[in-house]
Amino acid sequence: MLLGLCDRTVLEHVDIDEDAETVVAHVRPKRPKKRRCGRCGRLSPHEDNGDGRRRWRGLDLGTVQVWLEADAPRVRCRDHGRVVAAVPWARHGARQTRAFEDTAGWLVTQCSKTAVSGLLRIAWRTVGGIVTRVVGEIDARVDRLDGLRRIGIDEISYKRGHKYLTVVVDHDTGRLVWAAAGRDEKTLRGFFDALGEQRCAQITHVSADAADWIATVVAERCGNAVRCADPFHIVKWATEALDEVRRQAWNDARARARREPVRGRGRPRSDAPPRPGHERARALKHARYALWKNPEDLTQRQHAKLEWIAKTDPRLHRAYLLKEGLRHVFKVKGEAGKEALDRWLSWAQRCRIPAFVELQRRIRRHREAIDAALEHGLSQGLIESTNTKLRVLTRMAFGFRSPDALIALGMLALGGYRPSLPGRTAA
Ligand SMILES: [Zn+2]
Repeated sequence: MLLGLCDRTVLEHVDIDEDAETVVAHVRPKRPKKRRCGRCGRLSPHEDNGDGRRRWRGLDLGTVQVWLEADAPRVRCRDHGRVVAAVPWARHGARQTRAFEDTAGWLVTQCSKTAVSGLLRIAWRTVGGIVTRVVGEIDARVDRLDGLRRIGIDEISYKRGHKYLTVVVDHDTGRLVWAAAGRDEKTLRGFFDALGEQRCAQITHVSADAADWIATVVAERCGNAVRCADPFHIVKWATEALDEVRRQAWNDARARARREPVRGRGRPRSDAPPRPGHERARALKHARYALWKNPEDLTQRQHAKLEWIAKTDPRLHRAYLLKEGLRHVFKVKGEAGKEALDRWLSWAQRCRIPAFVELQRRIRRHREAIDAALEHGLSQGLIESTNTKLRVLTRMAFGFRSPDALIALGMLALGGYRPSLPGRTAA
């Protein structure tokens, strides 16, 4: 009971190593003659003794580390050939018990990387393998692609923007349902292949950013679905255009600063000539967050900064208002949203800021999909929050060797199915 062994496990004897502060429990399966394939569970004939005895890390007893030790014979499976026989206390290929892995799998969805490896006393790399096995077991049990109607497709970068994942979320359940390494037509076709023709036909809405490779594959595989632009990305375009204007203003200020007298080190003399260019460049550099953030989230200082911009740089302030105006369009949605977008487009067309004139053209090109998004109101919050959470996870998964482990971590945290903690009845 203390070791959490199931009734299919026999405890032979227990060693306590007081110096190492570990407990080693020697165990065997209840019916050692009837061995099963570790991969598929088929009853299979004995092959050999493999590498002899093996150890599995179990859940700690208080502060004491626990290990289970047992023979690890191999069987000959009809499908999988020579393979280590299944054991009731651990998953195939694991170096920890099932209870240990479930605890680790539950923890990674709840707390930081440092907390997980500190509490469980395992290397972070080990967690990657654990998560992959836990998710593999869930995937064998549930079909995440069943009953999909309204989906969102997105890409997310990791490894500092050098690598990409394509992800699919379910708008109705808010779950992450599919992810794979890469961002191209071939990768996305993998999703529709897994979905199958019949279930593709049942998809009614697809939201995605304006990437051509997504549009191509969606048109080819579920042409009847309504294609909606992803409001999150459209607003991001506006933020990018705004940043271009801010950078320009900053560069202008710096050019002006270069013509100003050079100052030596230390505190300037009281009669030193003022250097407005320098001050302006510094202020603009730090105005970034004030311009980016939603007005309702601004701090008092950021409010002051915006007021300063309004007074001193009407052009940059106009760009800010344009960005906010576009955000407003997606907030009101529906017919009112479409009308607001019409007004916004004619405003942007006449604004004399090249970045926004270009943005206005781009939005007109995608007008149909944007109108669909306004009509059907596929929640922008979902993709946005999935995106943010995935970004946190990619940082957490730093140190995992393969994208598979990262995908598994994403599935475990955002896919809606988690292992229950050992010893508790599942909620
Ligand atoms: Zn097998």
